[in-house]
Amino acid sequence: MSLSTSKLKMSHLEPQEEAQQQAPKLVDKHGRHIDYVRLSVTDRCDFRCVYCMSEEMTFLPRKQVLSLEEIYQVAKTFTELGVNKLRLTGGEPLVRKNVMSLIEKIGSLPGLNELLLTTNGSQLEKLAAPLKAAGVTRINVSLDSLDAESFHRMTRTGKLDKVLRGIEAAVDVGFEGIRLNTVILRGRNEHEILDLLEYAIGLGINIAYIEEMPLGEVSDHDRLETTFSNDDVRNVISERYTLSAIEETTAGPSRYYEVDSHQTRVGFISPVSHNFCDTCNRVRLTVEGRLLLCLGNEHSMDLRKVLRENPGNDDILKEHIIKAMDLKPLRHYFYDKDEPQLVRFMNMTGG
Ligand code: SAM
Ligand code: SF4
Repeated sequence: MSLSTSKLKMSHLEPQEEAQQQAPKLVDKHGRHIDYVRLSVTDRCDFRCVYCMSEEMTFLPRKQVLSLEEIYQVAKTFTELGVNKLRLTGGEPLVRKNVMSLIEKIGSLPGLNELLLTTNGSQLEKLAAPLKAAGVTRINVSLDSLDAESFHRMTRTGKLDKVLRGIEAAVDVGFEGIRLNTVILRGRNEHEILDLLEYAIGLGINIAYIEEMPLGEVSDHDRLETTFSNDDVRNVISERYTLSAIEETTAGPSRYYEVDSHQTRVGFISPVSHNFCDTCNRVRLTVEGRLLLCLGNEHSMDLRKVLRENPGNDDILKEHIIKAMDLKPLRHYFYDKDEPQLVRFMNMTGG
């Protein structure tokens, strides 16, 4: 297949807009423009959050995981196909050996408007400044509790004070739009909804509440019992604050609100209870190099095979990425008659 096939639409506008407008576009068969890619750079993590991993996790053998060079080749190829927003995630992206060298290279790719990172914050105290210097534009930090014991119970290994120092380091080096990611589980941390919001308000950063998704079988709890819907989170917040909806959307499962007159924005990420699929603009690369076209489906293409059978060949990689767009399903199916549909873990997927 050549690059001029139907999946790659070229723009024909005037010269001064050419640099931006001539970028090719990845479009799926439902007409959705894909300009955002989330890359999982490792399945490993220094935490074992109860909703994300089982206590005894088996991680992938090294040779099954994409090398840093392979991840860079995929990132570069996507930007050449018009993707202007990349998110590095995992597992914990900052525990991958030499990850800073990858981030520096990706940070210098032309055509990239946003380089985002999702982290558990354990390494941020020392890495916030180098990440900013490498071109990371925004950071999300996961934080489910402000109580050291409860934080340790939710993460099984995490140290709250270290993470809080990391978040504060990110604020100090001047990252804008820092967002806390908070998963609320019934019976565990729902009483901290307001404390976490007020911590975010105090630092002038944002917070998003994420509904637990049925990814991977977890040993710790029955998800049908612990699910705490974002409608309920919103009710708790509304008892103390006025939330005003913000019009702009991220084309994803999040909806944002202003809180009274504070700088902090509150997001609700509700992939299970809200269907956001008609505006979906994103795909994900798993740590094994599987290009996942939808978080809530198994439709995918094995890019590791393409990379390893055709080393260094960007054109063949491009052709496969373009072809993969045909696999993007119209919508997700997380639950079928209350039964979870997926067996993938979030750390494999790139949350
Ligand atoms: N380790 C990093 C972190 O925790 O931020 C990045 C990877 S983690 C998989 C990305 C996000 O996914 C985190 O905010 C985490 O809370 C969320 N997450 C993990 N498992 C989840 C699940 N089953 N349902 C909803 N969110 C989940
Ligand atoms: Fe690790 Fe992030 Fe998963 Fe927690 S949510 S176990 S920090 S990958």
